[in-house]
Amino acid sequence: MIDILLMEPSSINKRRRVSNKLMGHDHAPPFSLAQILAKLKNIRGDAAEYMDEHYKTLMMKLSTHTDVKVVYADSAAQAAAEIKRINNGRQIAVNKSSVVNNEIVPELLQSNLRIIETYYDEFKPSDPKLNEYLRLPDLEIDSVFNAFQITTHPDISRKNSVAQNGSKDFTGLLGLNAISAKDGTISLFQHMGNIGAIYEQARKIIFVVGMDKIVRNSEDAIFQTKSMAAFGWQALLKAQKFHNEPTPHLSIKDMPFNISPADTDQEIHLIVLNNGRKNLQNSRYKDLLACIGCRGCMKDCPVSSFFHVSGKWNPKEYISYYVQGRHPSLDICLQCKTCQMNCPLDIDIPDMILDARADAMKNGKLPLMHNLLSNFENIAKWSTKTPYIANTLSKNNLIRNLGETFANVSIKRKMPEFQKLTFEKWFENRKNKEGRN
Ligand code: SF4
Ligand code: SF4
Repeated sequence: MIDILLMEPSSINKRRRVSNKLMGHDHAPPFSLAQILAKLKNIRGDAAEYMDEHYKTLMMKLSTHTDVKVVYADSAAQAAAEIKRINNGRQIAVNKSSVVNNEIVPELLQSNLRIIETYYDEFKPSDPKLNEYLRLPDLEIDSVFNAFQITTHPDISRKNSVAQNGSKDFTGLLGLNAISAKDGTISLFQHMGNIGAIYEQARKIIFVVGMDKIVRNSEDAIFQTKSMAAFGWQALLKAQKFHNEPTPHLSIKDMPFNISPADTDQEIHLIVLNNGRKNLQNSRYKDLLACIGCRGCMKDCPVSSFFHVSGKWNPKEYISYYVQGRHPSLDICLQCKTCQMNCPLDIDIPDMILDARADAMKNGKLPLMHNLLSNFENIAKWSTKTPYIANTLSKNNLIRNLGETFANVSIKRKMPEFQKLTFEKWFENRKNKEGRN
């Protein structure tokens, strides 16, 4: 069996670090912030540049493991088809990873599969572990980074639990934070226990990893996962506030252990997903491959909750999915640059957004609203010739409805009234009148 490492924030470790700090006994953490950022940049640079090589090394390594079934999926649709084949109509419990939630779940929902978002179980406001962690004072990033607890053998917990209780009739679909090409070590981060519960109780386990998250070795996999967690913690809590628990929601907690050990899948399935990642390598957007998925860029973005109806896309996802052709424009971004400032990899998302907008303009791919509003002088030229007709039409509810539907101009927006008299003419008349007086 390959090694599976599960990391989570530990209130005991945090308490220890806080009390040491207060008593003046705090030793310098093993990695300073500058060292963390430098090492992380190296790991991500290597993963992006040698993506194909790491993939081949990983496949060779995993070919010697009979208990891991690996499949390469070129697109999210292919990955979803493979998941449906393995899952065979059961409910699917997912973790919060972007690759699962934003790339694969939309495909699965098209087949009316029931998806269980286990985060709602994890973040109960009354959870004593979470409350204790949050009540402790905030630590510097380097201290947070060094305060995680690593569970090294969730596979043994699963084995023991299955032998004793059997399993529950759902499939666990878990996105990985990193996987080591050299030895196949899998690394995952959980905040309070949902991944551990899915892994222990599911009848079948499917892991999904984006090709860009294959790193050179297990040391890099652990480092990357810890970084993802340390830089993303606050963003995650903010995102939780946006997405209140739906009532009622599906949960794995109340499901019975009704599958016998013999009917529980012992092997694990791993899907390595491309979904446009290879195309980024030699493109203007290649820096997106450096992303660790921490969601730090979402933390202070003033408009991220409007990027998608789900409210779950962060700025990196907003530009990535545009590049993949999943949405038509990038007009919501305000170019405030806070996403770049909060990104541990310094990924210049606003600059990519600007370039993408410029390309769209050059290639005539601007949405109708942009075409209309950026060439407003044409509209104005004709409207001022027949202002009565133009003003009547712009106040007409049917026209306003069509404008909202096809050009994305809100029905609440009042259009300026057109006049026959131009400003130039008005000014000239006024000048002449004042001259006469
Ligand atoms: S630059 Fe755009 S994407 Fe980045 S934080 Fe500001 S509004 Fe959000
Ligand atoms: S772009 Fe940067 S901040 Fe955003 S998720 Fe990726 S690594 Fe984190």
